[in-house]
Amino acid sequence: MAKATPDLMERIVSLCKRRGFVFQSSEIYGGINSCYDYGPLGAELKRNVKNAWWEAMVVRRDDIVGLDSAIIQHPEVWRSSGHVAGFSDLLVDCKRCKGRFREDHLDAMACLDREFCGRPAKVCREEGLMTEPRAFNLMFETHAGPVKDSASVVYLRPETAQGIFTNFLNVVNSSRMAPPFGVAQIGKSFRNEITPGNFVFRTREFEQMEMEFFVPPDQSDRWYEYWVEERYDWYLRNGVRPDRLRKRVHADDELAHYSSGCTDVEYEYPFGWGELEGIAKRGSYDLEAHAKGCGKDLSFFDEASKTRYVPHVVEPAAGCDRAAMTFLVDAYDEETVTDEKTGKSEIRTVLHFHPRIAPITVAVFPLVKKAGMPEAAHKIVDELRDAGIRTFYDEKGAIGRRYRRQDEVGTPYCITVDGETVEGDGSVTVRDRDSMGQERIAPSDVLAVIRQKIKAWRRA
Ligand code: ATP
Repeated sequence: MAKATPDLMERIVSLCKRRGFVFQSSEIYGGINSCYDYGPLGAELKRNVKNAWWEAMVVRRDDIVGLDSAIIQHPEVWRSSGHVAGFSDLLVDCKRCKGRFREDHLDAMACLDREFCGRPAKVCREEGLMTEPRAFNLMFETHAGPVKDSASVVYLRPETAQGIFTNFLNVVNSSRMAPPFGVAQIGKSFRNEITPGNFVFRTREFEQMEMEFFVPPDQSDRWYEYWVEERYDWYLRNGVRPDRLRKRVHADDELAHYSSGCTDVEYEYPFGWGELEGIAKRGSYDLEAHAKGCGKDLSFFDEASKTRYVPHVVEPAAGCDRAAMTFLVDAYDEETVTDEKTGKSEIRTVLHFHPRIAPITVAVFPLVKKAGMPEAAHKIVDELRDAGIRTFYDEKGAIGRRYRRQDEVGTPYCITVDGETVEGDGSVTVRDRDSMGQERIAPSDVLAVIRQKIKAWRRA
């Protein structure tokens, strides 16, 4: 198994570029710091991550509905929520290297001075080279409309959650939901991070997958525990290795003033443990803050008990880009494989994605580009695509190389049509990415076999 080292991350980043998962944004202009574009396979990967989340959080549940709110909202939303006054990180400047650092990241950051190259920035602080920390607001500001003055200031949302709180009454009134119930949303968020980095782990523009679960106040603890387990389990169900995943309960001094509990789901990246998702008990803070800000009653009247209360909120908040990167890092492996015939060994780069997460689920190959094989292969491609299975057709190059190319992008199953298919018993070969084992099946069984394999897939 590949060892977790910093240069492992470099190899993964290089694979992402080479095979079209992630590109540096605006690369032809020299790139822009911490901005990335998702290529053909990256776009599929991210879509699968979002689908897996939406399926688990909305489609399969009676108690959660979806929402898609605007990125630009009324500026009062951000005053009421506390973001204008307090959504900031502490910033320090190094007087010597002129670097700007997030104070709580000093341990992981390196001084920019050539003489001190590579030494942790916290040493500069110990030597008194850092300025006093000052608050730096992370919200991006812009102006709505043609006049750029203080009255036209608007913000790009730094989280999707507030769009859910401001629509609480709309959802209750239009969908007749009653606590305990949730509202889920996936969408872009923007934070002017002081120190973005580690590839797409921390960027200034990213996508979030957040769900606000509204509960009667006395059920908050119970649902918090439920959502910590459920969200941790979602990563395991989608193939993440359990030994690289952990839950970290926040200490009291890490909690926001309104929060009475928070647990992060963390992953062990090549650069160390990092937050993948946070599950927080937010109390009634958000609905109360907006009720105060807009002057409207955001409480809920419970018909059964004839009582009125402001629901408490349990929030699982995940990052889509972070999740996509985690699935990629976790799936990455370099294995030594030996050719049985020649005895030669080589390194096979493979992504052991869960079939649900893999950008391509099945690749179909005619062994050669003649003798009716492409036609027979296309029939299988059509059948799989009709069934909604992401299928890739490839007829170029040696078959071994075609398998390797699919291993490298994590395609779990390859189907090869050969002479036996068109002139013999009609069977095709199904090759498994993880075991590299091959079996022959009837073309009429392909769809059923692939469906069964997807269902039964387990991390080796
Ligand atoms: P951090 O402490 O790392 O800055 P946070 O605790 O402020 O993050 P939340 O506000 O809880 O993060 O956001 C929920 C999720 O959104 C995070 O768990 C992460 O997956 C994702 N996320 C937050 N900031 C970023 C970012 N700058 N780039 C990519 N994903 C992010």
